[in-house]
Amino acid sequence: MPALRRAAQAEALGLYLHVPFCLDRCTYCSFATTRDRSLQPETIQRLIAEVTAWGAALGRPAVDTLYLGGGTPSLLSPAELEQLTRAIHHAFDLSPLVEATLEANPGTVDLAWLQQARDLGWDRISLGVQALDDELLARLGRIHGSAQALEALDLARRAGFLRRSADLMVGIPGQSLSKVLEDARTLAGTGIDHLSVYLLDLDKACPLRADIDAGRLALPSEDAVADAFEALQEELPQLGLAPYEISNYARPGAESSHNSRYWKRRPYLGLGPSAASQMSAFRWTETGNIAAWTGGRGELEFQELDPAEALAEIPLLGLRQHAGVDWPRLRSLATGQNLLPLVDAWERALDQHLKRGLLEREGPVLRLTNRGRLLSNQVFELFV
Ligand code: SF4
Repeated sequence: MPALRRAAQAEALGLYLHVPFCLDRCTYCSFATTRDRSLQPETIQRLIAEVTAWGAALGRPAVDTLYLGGGTPSLLSPAELEQLTRAIHHAFDLSPLVEATLEANPGTVDLAWLQQARDLGWDRISLGVQALDDELLARLGRIHGSAQALEALDLARRAGFLRRSADLMVGIPGQSLSKVLEDARTLAGTGIDHLSVYLLDLDKACPLRADIDAGRLALPSEDAVADAFEALQEELPQLGLAPYEISNYARPGAESSHNSRYWKRRPYLGLGPSAASQMSAFRWTETGNIAAWTGGRGELEFQELDPAEALAEIPLLGLRQHAGVDWPRLRSLATGQNLLPLVDAWERALDQHLKRGLLEREGPVLRLTNRGRLLSNQVFELFV
């Protein structure tokens, strides 16, 4: 704990809180979340206790970004949201706070709840829209339709949120390229200042995976998905949403400060089932078993990165961002840690990606090209 306390005092933290409850389970979801809400009061009280305990253990450190994610944070009762927010203010020094985001499901918000969240200081909202097609939304098991998603974005505007973000999903069975583009245009037209574009990820067992494996539904081809991402890369900047990370687009100045800290390797503390934390060379994850976490029985998965692993994270995460990686700076960091041979080996391997047009150099900066963003895993595997 003394090493974590020193790290938390050296640089402002990001604080992530996980609310692991949903009204229903989406057909593609593999997050640590449940629709059994009988545990909700106890879990939220435990979350509040954890906020208080960690704030004290780390010496009431400064926090400059807050993120209430899930699950569905918009399922918190007004009293729970208020209690949790007050606990955060009490346990941490929020004087440098630049952003306080909460995630919400469009099927669970009303104006009064949003206004209360705004009054409590939450100033940015991220709405899980996913698509603006009722058939696709039903296929995903979402609890809302497209009209409700657009209404939720408008309610958030009326409640006074300074920043509004939406998620758009690509690769849904039955989703056409023209529909992806139409949804992107409609969402940009609502005045949102941030859009996250995700590929439907069916890594783990879930009902949608079972439907695909049984041949009841078919995923779009890899080419069709690549075409959709490429078309969005061209379209979204024309709609005022510039790419700043592989999956994220924003109006100038509206980039997510909290999510950016993950790619910049700035420290964060995550509390709640399955939440991850990182401070200096230490990284840990809480159990994803909600009942065990709430009962205080979950084990932490703790890892201390060695210097080579920590160095590899700089290009691995840095190349996700459009700003790219300052390569001479990376070399000089490596020199100080006797890791220059590792960087030399990366350079030799990266050469082929430069020649294939997946990477480009601009002065000292190395970054992915548009094509490289589509095939980024081929580059990233080098650093894993
Ligand atoms: S709302 Fe999000 S966390 Fe909840 S089931 Fe759906 S995808 Fe999973």
